Amino acid sequence: LLNVSRQSAAGADELFGSLLSPGFDRCACLSRYQSPHYYKRSPYAPSPHLLQKLRDYEALHSRCGPGTPPYAKSVDHLRSGSSSSKEDKECNYLVWIPYNGLGNRMLSLISTFLYALLTDRVLLVHSTDDFTDLFCEPFPGVNATWVLPPEFPVADISRLGVRSNQSYGNLLAGKKIDNDPTKATAQSVPPYVYLHLAHDLRRSDRLFYCNDDQLVLAKVNWLLLQSDYYFVPALYDMAEFEGELRRLFPAKESVSHLLGRYLLHPSNFVWGMITGYYHTYMAQAEERIGVQIRIFSWASIPVDDMYNQIMACSRQEHILPEVVNGDAAASASSHGGSKSKAILIASLQADYYDRIKSTYYEHAAKGGGMVGVFQPSHEEQQIMGQRSHNQKALAEIFLLSFSDVLLTTGISTFRYMSSSLAGLRPTMLMIPKDGKVPEPPCVRAVSMEPCFHMTPDVECQGKAVNKEELSHHVKKCEDVGKGIKRN
Ligand code: GDP
Repeated sequence: LLNVSRQSAAGADELFGSLLSPGFDRCACLSRYQSPHYYKRSPYAPSPHLLQKLRDYEALHSRCGPGTPPYAKSVDHLRSGSSSSKEDKECNYLVWIPYNGLGNRMLSLISTFLYALLTDRVLLVHSTDDFTDLFCEPFPGVNATWVLPPEFPVADISRLGVRSNQSYGNLLAGKKIDNDPTKATAQSVPPYVYLHLAHDLRRSDRLFYCNDDQLVLAKVNWLLLQSDYYFVPALYDMAEFEGELRRLFPAKESVSHLLGRYLLHPSNFVWGMITGYYHTYMAQAEERIGVQIRIFSWASIPVDDMYNQIMACSRQEHILPEVVNGDAAASASSHGGSKSKAILIASLQADYYDRIKSTYYEHAAKGGGMVGVFQPSHEEQQIMGQRSHNQKALAEIFLLSFSDVLLTTGISTFRYMSSSLAGLRPTMLMIPKDGKVPEPPCVRAVSMEPCFHMTPDVECQGKAVNKEELSHHVKKCEDVGKGIKRN
């Protein structure tokens, strides 16, 4: 940990410009205090409005979170099936349900937290076994927790889905809730509504993305939300939130960067994996290059073609060190002077590591700088529901985020998370089409914001954001034809 204390002495801002509140138990969550010393960039300072919003949220969480009288009262109402009266509804809640891969989960969790901030709700997470011991408690207070207590009265939360009777789409279809905001009251709405915002959502579920429907949902005491998307760009589409969002995040591309660094702190166990690996393999290099290769089964190409795509991209964007060929290699070491570089490969497969490693074994780097190539794991395939698999994935997302430069794969939510945390606009490999290496092989992302992999594409009643206004801050994604992102 020598490097850390040295950097600390150099004055890295331990709390990211007050983004993080002081007064946590340091030992309970080492990453919270140490990670600022590992990130290479912090391009956006939080706005004063965001800082105020976060401090207000923290106060709300400690007043209303599990273990408090308002929490007990709200749970009692839920258990009895009654909607709480207006006077009772001192605190409203939003329960996040994990779904899909870790990158998807982190993005949907950030989006859900932002939705909680915008709607003054307390965020709680349904912590499944494979989600436990990944992250620290993010909110201050000795007894504060974001974990939904096990005695929560809604049974089988993990089985909620598009067909659930209590989903917003099905409640609307069955006329069990009225989405006319002038008619819905705190007494007429159900005590809880399940928001199904995952990729298989139906047209009626999409009404969540309408301003009038938000006015109705605001009257519901408990919202349960499941999504595998980064749905932040669609929140800008609602008049109710748009102005507040602009005040919170004056820098358009800073949302996931700031909220990711605020909310997601690896647990001590995962932090031990991250820092151990970092200090053994990466800390000594003068430049760290993160390479993330994600192969989607629906768009795979032969390993040699993929390797060629990576190298073509690297040459185009000048990312990996160039090599010298033939006799020149013999004298390369005498040139010296180039920066030493550590190349970190994150991939489920070992193939690309093997090839890149061989390249720098067989050829010296131009300028004679030292090059190390490292890959922490190769799990071969994505495993759902396994904690140790998720812990490795989380460690690698963070190791990538400590890079100076990133070469990543488009569409991958794993990569969106690493570049947002890093505060970097990465280069991203385009996804092969018809089994061929795409041309160009990669593009530079125009912003570090993740892509929302769908457009809400919904006909709303009532007030909407001016479309022309919207087009200034929500654009098509480079990597997903039907997706939208902030830039
Ligand atoms: P996406 O599918 O690329 O959008 O990313 P997700 O994180 O949502 O899902 C992919 C899952 O596969 C991850 O959560 C990991 O469990 C696993 N995975 C994919 N790439 C890697 C990798 O480079 N390293 C590790 N350890 N796991 C990976």
